Amino acid sequence: MSSPEFSEWIESDLRQIRDAALFRSRRTFRPLPGGRCVLDGQTLINLSSNDYLDLAHDQRLISAATAALAEMGVGARASALVSGRTEWHTKLETQLAQFEGTEAAILFPSGYAANLGVVSALASEQDTVFCDRLNHASLIDGCRLSGARLRVFRHDSLGKLKRELEKVTGEGKKIIVTDSVFSMDGSLAPLVSLCDLAEEFQAILMIDEAHATGIWGATGRGLAEELGVAHRVMVRIGTLSKAVGTLGGFVAGSSAMIDWLWNRVRTQIYSTALPPAICAAACQSLEIIQAEQERRCILFERAEFLRNELQQRTNVTIPSSAGPIIPIILQDPDITMNIAAELQEAGFLVGAIRPPTVPEGTSRLRISLTCAHQQDDLERFLKALDRSLARNVESR
Ligand code: PMP
Repeated sequence: MSSPEFSEWIESDLRQIRDAALFRSRRTFRPLPGGRCVLDGQTLINLSSNDYLDLAHDQRLISAATAALAEMGVGARASALVSGRTEWHTKLETQLAQFEGTEAAILFPSGYAANLGVVSALASEQDTVFCDRLNHASLIDGCRLSGARLRVFRHDSLGKLKRELEKVTGEGKKIIVTDSVFSMDGSLAPLVSLCDLAEEFQAILMIDEAHATGIWGATGRGLAEELGVAHRVMVRIGTLSKAVGTLGGFVAGSSAMIDWLWNRVRTQIYSTALPPAICAAACQSLEIIQAEQERRCILFERAEFLRNELQQRTNVTIPSSAGPIIPIILQDPDITMNIAAELQEAGFLVGAIRPPTVPEGTSRLRISLTCAHQQDDLERFLKALDRSLARNVESR
């Protein structure tokens, strides 16, 4: 392809994205404390953040990071395997293992890198991976990269998964891969049934607790803890970028499994380790999460209030789920974009999610709450949403 042909190809693909109303522009945003942000000069209530426990701006995390920055500088300088693993990495891995109640834990540069790397290291051509259709892109990409046979199932009807598990015979591993809390729906994986199936068919169950770490379960370990199955899940992955308020992915498990991951997972071997200051902040965050349980209680109270209110609206669909992710399904991508723009004018930043991130016909506003949002913020949001729905959507 010549250089002009390449430019033409880029232009033509961009046109297709625009024609389908799926073009995404890049905006510069400034996070503020208290569930707020500034976007294009306007201060907004931020209903699109995964900082569920309002820790990203916490002064204690900032102080921990600042002290580690002064001590160790900014970058880690090399991959963890070569020479990038500082005492802050060791401390965080030890603390994560204690928090998760496992023998050991291992860090990754991001949750995406953890999912991509772990699935593609665990599975290979002779294996079969069973992947929920709503799994995060990083898990789906990991399944594809592994070269394993891929079987897609739905967590709201596990009959297909069981039938597919029955069909697989022979030597290869069977690996069931699922988010615990689905990021675009807020729906919960049926982890008890998945553990039962995994045990019945001797499959490895791997779960991504990205949206559950820190907020679900009696001590905030995640949905597996909430449902009493943490000890039955073979591979538990989490991220530090959401409720923990920092950055990085991790896996918690037996010492042998963690040693194996250290030696085999390419996204950890070939990528620079997390900045030490981020690890110091995450250590502080884990302490706060355990000491200040009220943050989770407030978060769930706010979410319950907003979900109940939204479910009374007749012109939108609110899937039944629980927790701080609340999708408002509007179906049409243009209407979704219009309403998101009007809400922004009214002072609220809300994620507008369209295909390919979600299936065709399910474009939505995705609300994610933090414990910093006040009751008054939510009441004002509901009023602005009602005004915008009245302009854009007919009652069903
Ligand atoms: N898993 C899920 C379910 C997610 O929603 C995300 C982030 N959007 C990730 C993994 C990736 O995590 P990170 O942002 O830490 O790379």
